[in-house]
Amino acid sequence: MRQIAIYGKGGIGKSTITANLAVALAERGLKVLQVGCDPKHDSTRMLLGGTMPPTVLDCLRERGEEHVEAEMVVRVGYRGVWCVEAGGPEPGIGCAGRGIMATFELLDSLGIFDSGLDVVLYDVLGDVVCGGFAVPIREGYARETYLVTSGELMSLYAANNICRGIARFANRGEGRLGGIVGNSRVVDGEVELIDAFARRLGSQLVQFIPRDPIVQRAELHRQTVLQYAPESTQAGAYRELATRILNNEALGVPRPMGLEELETLMREVMACRGSRG
Ligand code: ADP
Ligand code: MG
Repeated sequence: MRQIAIYGKGGIGKSTITANLAVALAERGLKVLQVGCDPKHDSTRMLLGGTMPPTVLDCLRERGEEHVEAEMVVRVGYRGVWCVEAGGPEPGIGCAGRGIMATFELLDSLGIFDSGLDVVLYDVLGDVVCGGFAVPIREGYARETYLVTSGELMSLYAANNICRGIARFANRGEGRLGGIVGNSRVVDGEVELIDAFARRLGSQLVQFIPRDPIVQRAELHRQTVLQYAPESTQAGAYRELATRILNNEALGVPRPMGLEELETLMREVMACRGSRG
């Protein structure tokens, strides 16, 4: 069973990528579980026809641990993808990361990880790498992590921060960086920049996903792109990502940068483009 974490800044496109990746893997006959680890709890929405069933935290709060059964927290989505949402605390009270810990413990105790899954995808909010959000990498669940970023500074900055977390926990276990997934925000020189960023970390740009309005159209129909427009170029990009991840053996410990180094890198890439153009 491959356990893969997808991290990145809020709103960068993690859930869109994870859900489409889940479908691409399921299309190949793999048994996939997607675990949403964002208090926003909309990770698996497009796999579930736009619905947002109770989260693990909701079930635990309402019923208590002994009375929660697998069917209550695991939904079967498009193409048979299993869907779980960790959920979050009541706004203003409690720690958002706690839900993730509780979710992993519950999935463990329900035997979900021993039910013949081929791939588990964790869709994790990476703005804050506080205790809870680091659980998938810290507790050895996810052996490989992929970071989603655009060419915008704040998104690269968040990805770089998550690398600090991965580097910190790497000596404790087997959590490694598999690479960077670019999700375009149509920034100047974006591919070169993300590629340079990945290499500077000692990693690789696994796949660059273009920005395409078909993502919004699919969303309005409450579907993943692979379901809504299976023959589209965008669907092809998500399938290519699935292939690259399945074949990826380049797992490593990243070398995170300082903010200044990151800014210098961005200037260098821009200057290089300027001199060419
Ligand atoms: P996150 O899970 O990181 O918070 P989402 O996957 O929910 O982010 O994406 C945020 C928004 O960005 C979504 O509403 C989606 O429509 C849009 N989006 C994501 N990726 C793309 C893309 N490649 N092209 C166009 N829109 C995208
Ligand atoms: Mg999300």
